[in-house]
Amino acid sequence: MILGKQGAGKGTQCVRLARHYVVPHISTGDMFRAAEKSGSAFGHKLAEYMRAGELIPDEIVLGVVGERLDQNDTKSRGFILDGFPRTANQAEALSKMLAPRDLDLAVDLEVPTDIVLKRLSGRRVCQDCGTNYSFQSRPRVDWTCDVCGGEVVQREDDTEDAIERRLKLYEEQTEPLIQWYLERDMLVAVDGLGTPDEVTARLTRAIDRRRAHNAAHTGR
Ligand code: ADP
Ligand code: ZN
Repeated sequence: MILGKQGAGKGTQCVRLARHYVVPHISTGDMFRAAEKSGSAFGHKLAEYMRAGELIPDEIVLGVVGERLDQNDTKSRGFILDGFPRTANQAEALSKMLAPRDLDLAVDLEVPTDIVLKRLSGRRVCQDCGTNYSFQSRPRVDWTCDVCGGEVVQREDDTEDAIERRLKLYEEQTEPLIQWYLERDMLVAVDGLGTPDEVTARLTRAIDRRRAHNAAHTGR
């Protein structure tokens, strides 16, 4: 499970980690954006929260995540959680869902706020597959996704107001989870500065070390 501010690089890194470990990447943000794109009434309701930078109510989030974690691929292979849990209530609910097991580890991807603000204003994403780009790392052809050919645009919630609101909620609701996982001896902090390759290398090193430790000590 990966924690980190908006713009810390969670999404980009989780895609890479999912490929590296061959496990599903479960991103609540991606799931909610897919629901929005489906055009259903449910999707519209979610879009209102997202556009404003507000959190989606726990009963919805927990229902969606619970269903996803119940599928065969996550049960057999494990998974990477991105964007969930982000409140203490969600963290407790997750522990219950996974009991008697628990997460292997919680990673805190650390990037200072002034840097995430810069990254978010330049962030562009593929409308179709969600791949992240920026002015520094553009697609090869105009703003057409290298992966799927979709159109690369600015996210609707990457406006100044919504970014400010999301960072505030992160500080109030999500940052306390660092302490929560620290107390349970599950937290590993990783520096999120540097090139994407450098950060991926740091993450896999930290994850491998931690999983070896878990296997030796707790059988987790
Ligand atoms: P970011 O981390 O940049 O805000 P995400 O893609 O993770 O982007 O999430 C986008 C939006 O989806 C959030 O602003 C929020 O409205 C909703 N969302 C995602 N995950 C959760 C969650 N665990 N609990 C509540 N709302 C969520
Ligand atoms: Zn794409």
